[in-house]
Amino acid sequence: MTFPPIREELRGIEPYGAPQLDVPVALNTNENPYGPSDACADDVAAAVREVTTSLNRYPDREHVALRTALAAYLSRDTLPTRGFEIGVEQVWAANGSNEVMLQLLQAFGGPGRRALSFAPTYSMYPEYARDTSTEWVQGHRAADFTLDLDRARATVERERPSVVLLPSPNNPTGTALPPQAVGMLCEAAGDGLVVVDEAYTEFRRAGTPSALELLPEHRNLVVTRTMSKAFALAGGRVGYLAADPAIGDAIRVVRLPYHLSAVTQAVALAALRHAPELLGRVDDLRRERDECVAWLRGNGLAVADSDANFVLFGTFADRHAVWQDLVDQGVLIRETGPDGWLRVSIGTPDEMAVFRTALIAALGRHPTTSSTHRSTTSTDQGVPA
Ligand code: PMP
Repeated sequence: MTFPPIREELRGIEPYGAPQLDVPVALNTNENPYGPSDACADDVAAAVREVTTSLNRYPDREHVALRTALAAYLSRDTLPTRGFEIGVEQVWAANGSNEVMLQLLQAFGGPGRRALSFAPTYSMYPEYARDTSTEWVQGHRAADFTLDLDRARATVERERPSVVLLPSPNNPTGTALPPQAVGMLCEAAGDGLVVVDEAYTEFRRAGTPSALELLPEHRNLVVTRTMSKAFALAGGRVGYLAADPAIGDAIRVVRLPYHLSAVTQAVALAALRHAPELLGRVDDLRRERDECVAWLRGNGLAVADSDANFVLFGTFADRHAVWQDLVDQGVLIRETGPDGWLRVSIGTPDEMAVFRTALIAALGRHPTTSSTHRSTTSTDQGVPA
C-alpha cells in the first residue's frame, strides 16, 4: 500500500474550495458584503462572553434554544401564507448547511444507495456522495439552466435515489425551481428524500414560494437553509433544516456528539435577535443584482436570470484568462459553472462599480464567444419577493 493509506477513490483529488486571495474586491463566495453593526457585534460578543464561563462543560447537544429561535424565524415564511408554524421538533442545525447535507447523506445514503442532482449545480453535492460511499447520479438541466420537469421526474423514477438534492435558487446559475416542481418530485421520489437546498432563498424574486410551505404535504421533503448568505454570518458556520421530526431522529444517530459548539450556538442566537438588521440589506442586494444582470446584458454578454446574490455570465473562449485579468485588477470572482462562464457575487455599489470597470477593461483584451443574451423564463428581474 502506498503512503498515506487514503481510500483509493480519494487518491490524488484536490480539496474543494474557492481560492482565498487577498484582494481589494472579493466577489467570489456569495457572502453578504455588509458586516454587522457595532450594536450587533457588541451583542454577539456579550453572548460569547456569557458562555465563556461555562466552556468547561459540553454544550447543549440538542441545541434547543437555537432550534426554537430558528423555528420561529422559519415560521415567518409559513404562518402568513399557509397558516402553520414550523415546530422546534422539525428543526435541526449544524456547522453550515454543508454539514447538514453531509449528515443527511450519512443517514440516508451509503453503499448500495444513490444520490441525484441536476447539473450544472453545486459542486459539493457529488462530494457528499463520494465521502459517504453513495453512488452519484447526475441528471441535467435544460440549456437555459431550468429544470425540465418531465425529464426530471422520469430521471427520479428511473434511478430511485435515496436522496435528491435540489437547490433553489441553484448555484452557480441562480435559477429558482418553479412552484410545482417540488411537489411533483416529492411524489416521484417515493420513499426517497427530496432535499430543497434554500441557501439563497431570501434573495428570490416575487412569485417563488419557499418549499417550506409544502412540508405538511410531503413527509419526504427536507428544506435546508443557512445563516451564511442573506443572514451575513458565513464566519459563524450555522446551517439548518426543517423536515418531519423523523428526519432529525435519523441524523441524531450519525451526528458527532456536541457537534455544535456553545460558542456557535451563542453567536447564532445573538445574530437571530438582530435578524431585521442583518437581513436589512437583502433588498439592496436584490436591486444591485438586477442592475448587474441588465448591465452585463447591455454589454453583449449572456447572463442567466438570477434569484440569488450572484450572477452567472459569459461566455468566454478562455474564461480563466478573464478571471486572471480581473484578479490582476484586484477583483476576485469565481471560475465555476459550465465551460466559458464566470460567476460574480453581488457586493456593495462601490465594489460593483470596480467590478464593472475591471470587466470592461478585460473584455477589451478577451473576446466573448456569445453576443446574444441568454435569458430564461422571466424578465421581471426587478421585483422583490
Ligand atoms: N448550498 C449551496 C447551494 C451553496 O452555494 C452553499 C455555499 N456555497 C452551501 C449550500 C453551503 O453553505 P454553508 O455551509 O455556509 O451553509
